[in-house]
Amino acid sequence: MSVLVVGSIAYDSVTTPHGSREDAVGGSAVYFAHAASFFAPVSVVAVVGEDFAADNLDAMRKRGVDISGVAKAKGKTFRWAGEYHPSMNARATLDTQLNVFADFAPKLSPQHSACPYLFLANIAPELQLDVLRQMDARPKLVALDSMNFWIDSSPDALREVVAQVDVLFLEEAELRDFAQERNIVRAAKRVQAMGPATVVAKRGEYGALMFHEGDMFSAPAYPLERVMDPTGAGDAFAAGFVGCLAADGDLSPDAFRRAAMLGSVMGSFCVQDFSIDRLTALNPGDIDARYRAFTDLAAFPQLPSGATLAAGPAGQGSPA
Ligand code: AMP
Repeated sequence: MSVLVVGSIAYDSVTTPHGSREDAVGGSAVYFAHAASFFAPVSVVAVVGEDFAADNLDAMRKRGVDISGVAKAKGKTFRWAGEYHPSMNARATLDTQLNVFADFAPKLSPQHSACPYLFLANIAPELQLDVLRQMDARPKLVALDSMNFWIDSSPDALREVVAQVDVLFLEEAELRDFAQERNIVRAAKRVQAMGPATVVAKRGEYGALMFHEGDMFSAPAYPLERVMDPTGAGDAFAAGFVGCLAADGDLSPDAFRRAAMLGSVMGSFCVQDFSIDRLTALNPGDIDARYRAFTDLAAFPQLPSGATLAAGPAGQGSPA
């Protein structure tokens, strides 16, 4: 089943301990569309400026992504600049220029407004609300990603849209800020009470914690010898997650756990190169192989029913 994504298309300037890139193609919608296209048909709604090179959309075209909803507007393309700390687990935003996104008012086509899966990628919450209002019927699943920039600048609109979605992805520290609660379990529960049945706390190299209704699930990140550029990992995670759920329409608790693992799989590829370079070089076989590697990474024996591991007071029994 098809997925509609609304989000940013950007020129990113990124510095990591392994190098830097100026004006590389990026943006939340771009990372998401590339990664999700391995699992379901994807349509993008976004805007680019007059300075955007048409062939920068070729990679999306090659993946069969529907880009009929990408408008070209007067002005400059959205720009973002960031620098990663040596640990790669934290970054500083150096510059955010909304440019053509400042006045973007998308008008969804009938085909787009009928999409059963909707991903409101990181972009102005007012824009996310506008797209949600234009959907014909309530989609089968609506997921949303955001970041501190919007938590700080548009908190009311963000709360309004969050109340209407099924799945919320936020970086762990941002989830704490948004919920105004330090403890991550209590923060997730507080946000679930606002609306979304599923809340995913993204934890960089430590993976992701998913709170799905009453279930709590920890998806590890794949330990890599070299992380080149973490930009877009959150969007690639969301793409594996939403793409997996859209692929067969299964929304059972097991399907959500598999979705979280496929999110980790796609995030792990994204960080292996700058921009979308690793995602565009990816084969379906690579995805299967890494999913299997994850299964081995996190597998451990169950405790047989009735067995105990820890001994009682000295002399009163031994581990099973
Ligand atoms: P991630 O690393 O998953 O958080 O996503 C990084 C991408 O988000 C980059 O390609 C940026 O262009 C894009 N981005 C950064 N800040 C914003 C913002 N305020 N609104 C929309 N997209 C953004």
